[in-house]
Amino acid sequence: MILEYPEYYESFRCIGGDCPDTCCAGWEVDVDRESSQYYKSVDGEFGKRLKEHICEDGEGCYFPLTKDKRCPFLNKENLCDIYTNLGEESLCQTCTEYPRYFMDIGNYEQTDMSLSCMELGRIFYTETPVIEYVRSENPVEGEPLTEDDRDTLVEILSLRNKCISLLQDTGHSFNDKLLEVRALVSYAEGEDPGEKDKSRGFLTESYKELILLYESLDSINEEWSEKLSYYKELSDNPSKLDMIPEFTSLYSEKLDEWIPKTGVYFIFRYFIDTMTDGDIENELCFVHRSLRLIFFMLFAEWVSKGNIDVSDMIYVAHLYSKEVEHDDGNVDRIKKSV
Ligand code: SF4
Repeated sequence: MILEYPEYYESFRCIGGDCPDTCCAGWEVDVDRESSQYYKSVDGEFGKRLKEHICEDGEGCYFPLTKDKRCPFLNKENLCDIYTNLGEESLCQTCTEYPRYFMDIGNYEQTDMSLSCMELGRIFYTETPVIEYVRSENPVEGEPLTEDDRDTLVEILSLRNKCISLLQDTGHSFNDKLLEVRALVSYAEGEDPGEKDKSRGFLTESYKELILLYESLDSINEEWSEKLSYYKELSDNPSKLDMIPEFTSLYSEKLDEWIPKTGVYFIFRYFIDTMTDGDIENELCFVHRSLRLIFFMLFAEWVSKGNIDVSDMIYVAHLYSKEVEHDDGNVDRIKKSV
C-alpha cells in the first residue's frame, strides 16, 4: 500500500495539560467495541467509575459529557484519568488517533491531522512555510479496485497535487490562486473555465447567504453559535462590509500566506472524496465555501479587535474545523452546491 502524509505529521506531539483547548470537551467520545469491552472488565474503584460512565445506543458505545460539556475522565488539570490510571495503551481508538485521520482507497492511504487541534494549528501556521508530503510503501494489500476506479484515483491524485503546487507557488494573491485552482478543475472536467464558473452557484453567494447556510448546520459549541450571530450582523451591515477592501489590503501579505495554505489542507483532505461522492464539484464547493467563511471570520476578528495575527488564524481554523469537519452531516451540507 502507498502511504502519503504531510511532513508535519511527524513533528506533532500532544501537549496535554498545556493545551489552550482540549479535545476532550465539547463533543462526546465514541468508544470502539474492543475498548468498551476492556473498560467493562476493569476491576476496583476505577473500573466502577468506567462502568458508570460508559453508555451504549444503537450506534455503539460512548462517554456522555458532564454538565459542563467535558469528558467525564478529563480532570481539573485537563489530563485524562484513563491515561493516568490505565496507561496510554488503554485509550480508545478515538482518543489514540485524534487529531489524525486516515482515508484509504484501494492500495492508497492518505493520513493527515485536523486543524481542530490548536497545537497542530500552531505547527501548521507557524513552523511549516511549505507543506511537503511524504510517500512510503508497506506490504499491506488494500481492497481491490476495478481498473476504471484505479485510473480515476490516479487522475484525482494528480489533479490534487497540481492544485496543491499551484496554491504553494509564491507571488500571486490568494484570489488569483483560487481562480487558477477552479480553472484546473474545469480543464480536468473538459470544460471551459469561464463557462464552468457561470454554472457554479456557490461562487455568487453573498456573505449573508453563506453564514445562513452555516447557521443551519448542527452545532456542538455555544461559542460557534455566538460567533455566527455576530458574523450575520456584520454581513447585514453595508458600512461594515465596505471595510473588506481595507482589511484585505492591510493584511494582504498574511492573507496570501494563510488562505492558500488552508486551501492546501482542505484540498489534500477532501479531493479524494470524489471517489465516493462521484463529482469533484462537491469538493471544490467545500473548499471554496470553507475558505470564504474562514476569510470572513478573520475579517470579523479584525473588526472587533482592530488587529489580527497568526493566533487568530489558528483559532479561526480550529473553531471552523471542530464545528464543521468533525460532523460528516455538516461536511455533506457544505459540499452540496445547491
Ligand atoms: S487538542 Fe491537540 S494538543 Fe490539545 S489535548 Fe487534544 S490532541 Fe492534545
